[in-house]
Amino acid sequence: MSGIVHLVGAGPGDPGLLTVRAVELLEQADVVLYDRLIPPEALAHAGVGAEIVYVGKEGEGPQFPQEDTHRLLLEHARAGKRVVRLKGGDPFVFGRGGEEALVLHEAGIPFEVVPGVTAGVAAPAYAGIPVTHRELASGVAFVTGHEDPSKPGSAIDWPALARFPGTLVFYMGVRSLPRIAERLVAEGRPATEPVAVIERGTLPGQRTVLATLGDVAERAAAEKIRAPAITLVGDVAGLREQLAWLEARPLHGRTIAVTRARAQASALAARLRNLGAAVVEAPAIRIAPLDHPLPPLRQFDLVCVTSPNGAELLLDRLRDARELAGITVAAIGPGTARALRARGVEPDVVPDRAVAEGLVEALSDLHVDRALIARAAEGRDVLPDALRARGVEVSIAALYETVAEPLDDDARAAATGADYLLFTSASSVRFFAEAAGTLEGPRLVSIGPATSEALRAHGAEPDLEADPHTPDGLIDAVLSDR
Ligand code: SAH
Repeated sequence: MSGIVHLVGAGPGDPGLLTVRAVELLEQADVVLYDRLIPPEALAHAGVGAEIVYVGKEGEGPQFPQEDTHRLLLEHARAGKRVVRLKGGDPFVFGRGGEEALVLHEAGIPFEVVPGVTAGVAAPAYAGIPVTHRELASGVAFVTGHEDPSKPGSAIDWPALARFPGTLVFYMGVRSLPRIAERLVAEGRPATEPVAVIERGTLPGQRTVLATLGDVAERAAAEKIRAPAITLVGDVAGLREQLAWLEARPLHGRTIAVTRARAQASALAARLRNLGAAVVEAPAIRIAPLDHPLPPLRQFDLVCVTSPNGAELLLDRLRDARELAGITVAAIGPGTARALRARGVEPDVVPDRAVAEGLVEALSDLHVDRALIARAAEGRDVLPDALRARGVEVSIAALYETVAEPLDDDARAAATGADYLLFTSASSVRFFAEAAGTLEGPRLVSIGPATSEALRAHGAEPDLEADPHTPDGLIDAVLSDR
């Protein structure tokens, strides 16, 4: 029985521009054959058992011959595998997807095509340039800039291209840019026509040079524009002056390292990315659940939960949320409250200030005989001490511990080179300082007093402290640091 090949577009680089269909097929794939410029986040959708093979062609480096890609496609499909042939952008736009489809067709192997967001549309969109516009361009031409426009026998009809009434988008044109511009002017396009060269479109560090046909070669060289880049010629490029939304985002151009455990980092990272930041995930800690027996809950009249992890792990231990019926449930802050709600428990008490002291205060009017505190093994003693001082009998359920997560060299270098280093707990300070060996370089942002104290204990003064002491407070602290 033959397998099937899906020719799938992975989009221009921003992992958010992968299609839903691409993700679904990656999850089901037995084999993924991928090119250069494929975002690593795309490959991460492949299952653990999938075979992932690089078949890219580097601009200057080693080339994986196209015939070998064809051979691999046929081999895997004939072995009955589900093959995803993952290509940058759209598979049928300068991606040799057409050639590969023909090879499959000739071999009688079933294939399907999943379009992707092509760089020639996406990079301009991120640069604030619509490729068509009712008054400025009624058409758009996608052109390969690969060939040398000065060589005789060029497949491109330059006089026709120069006459084309609309936007021209050149793929792969960095080295041939001077000759492309020269040739278009020689064939009659005005030297004053706007041109945009967009490097690393949709990726962190996207750069755009806005010039004219007359000076674009010089300007792109001065700005050291490198591949991958596309070049767009047309009056629509001028709209960038008003529509450049990417650079207008509040955290654009800032690199922010998040040291939080991977499981929780993603929500914070996503919010930072939405604000335009480039985010480095450098988890120095990991949550390791502990399995000490949980005392029967019936005996308690108060259960305090001091972190989202605590909420998750507590509920994991219960048969269901009804075991908390009749017991006052207190959450230390909004994140913990959210984690409880996600598991069907509405917290009765959530303090305004998301620190142990805030919770103590919020509980001051409550009559309590026996309390259970669900938390990390190494938590602070503020809450149990304060409750005991009021005569409450306190039990601690140590549901997890935070342990060091080794940082690889890349993550360490990226984190210490970031503009901001964010800490969401005292333990993340301790483990990050050990793993990175230094806290110097970036501006240090602490979520609250306990974390700031941990920074001072490592000889570093926090530059910013969040208020409120929540992940949103951390983001606000960075936003207000201009
Ligand atoms: N199939 C792809 C294009 C492959 S050709 C697509 O539909 O997008 C490779 C060329 O695409 C590069 O040389 C460059 O010109 C362009 N390109 C790809 N990704 C890009 C990006 N993120 N930013 C700018 N140009 C890009």
